[in-house]
Amino acid sequence: MSIDIAAVRAQTPACTSLIHFNNAGAALSPQGVTAALIAHLELEQQIGAYEAAVVAAPAVEDFYGALAQMLGCSTREIAYAENATQAWNSLVNAIDFAPGERIITGQSEYASNYLTFLHLAKRQGVRIEVIPNDSAGLLDLERLEAAITADVKLIALTHVPSQCGVIHPAAEVGRIAKKHGILYLLDACQSAGQMALDVGALGCDMLTGTGRKYLRGPRGTGFLYLNKDCKARLEPAAIDLHAAQWLSAHSYRLREDARRFEHWECFVAGKIGLGRAVRYALEIGLPAIETRVQQLAHSLREQLAEIAGVTLYEHGAHLSGIVTFTTERMAAAQLHAILQEQAVNSSVTKLSNSQLDLATRAPGDVNRASVHYYNTEEEVLRFCELLRQL
Ligand SMILES: *Cc1c(COP(=O)(O)O)cnc(C)c1O
Repeated sequence: MSIDIAAVRAQTPACTSLIHFNNAGAALSPQGVTAALIAHLELEQQIGAYEAAVVAAPAVEDFYGALAQMLGCSTREIAYAENATQAWNSLVNAIDFAPGERIITGQSEYASNYLTFLHLAKRQGVRIEVIPNDSAGLLDLERLEAAITADVKLIALTHVPSQCGVIHPAAEVGRIAKKHGILYLLDACQSAGQMALDVGALGCDMLTGTGRKYLRGPRGTGFLYLNKDCKARLEPAAIDLHAAQWLSAHSYRLREDARRFEHWECFVAGKIGLGRAVRYALEIGLPAIETRVQQLAHSLREQLAEIAGVTLYEHGAHLSGIVTFTTERMAAAQLHAILQEQAVNSSVTKLSNSQLDLATRAPGDVNRASVHYYNTEEEVLRFCELLRQL
């Protein structure tokens, strides 16, 4: 089924006033998502926040239903988080690493994730093993398999990096993790909402994502998936009266489901809004979204490649909606500012946030244009026209 582009653009008011190629940073929310958010805030104002949460209970609960449907899991395997970093950290910090145990990750791992590995290495003596990318820029599966020994405790991989446009072979990594019985955590921040994700097919034990990127949800929202069979191996480092039940002076009981990783207090309107955003994506259809995003990104790369002085930083067959490039004429920050003056949103990837990847192959910070299904070929054309005119 193809997407009714006119309809989705009509439900995205800013489409008439700007070209939004910063979907990997934060996508534009559909009107229905913003309306649900505002409606709940108004209800809180009118009847009180606790009382509003009771009235809105079905919509809050649908956050779990929508995500479970999107990921192909049970609602008991989903938890809400304030952002993906918090979700990811709560899982990693629940793993009881012994000194010397290893974490395997990739070269294009998200900066905050890698910083946490460094922190764990310092505080708990874990060792970090980075599997290099192959010539196509994808995690090298043979080297991954060769790196596995009995002291590997965790494989943590960013599915779609934010700093460059590849799609790592997450399901193949899942098969290797399963074969060796190693915990596998997939950071799906950029892939959630951009492509169909099925946790069974991906073979991950844990998955984390954020609301505001390709899912088009509100800022300050995120989620995690925790496979029910892994629960016993993962005890949250920080709990509260929602994650656990206080039984007596000497005892407590952790929740049985993934919500043991939640806190009682949360941004209820945001949770409702993210649930709505997931439903919206499901209605459009993630396979259709994936196809459209890849077509637009392909078209953008092809046209950029024809502009003199432009260098692209991703090649190969498995590319996402994220396009990174530099121009000979000016630094990334300057181009970003000039585009913004023309009502074109894009972003800049800093080399300092990509020490093992871009920093080894780009001369400086790079420009990033990230497209979504509601963008158009006309916008791609106009974007390239602006670059040509520089
Ligand atoms: C944005 C991003 C994160 C962090 O998500 P937050 O919701 O900002 O915490 C993690 N990993 C990847 C790959 C990202 O793109």
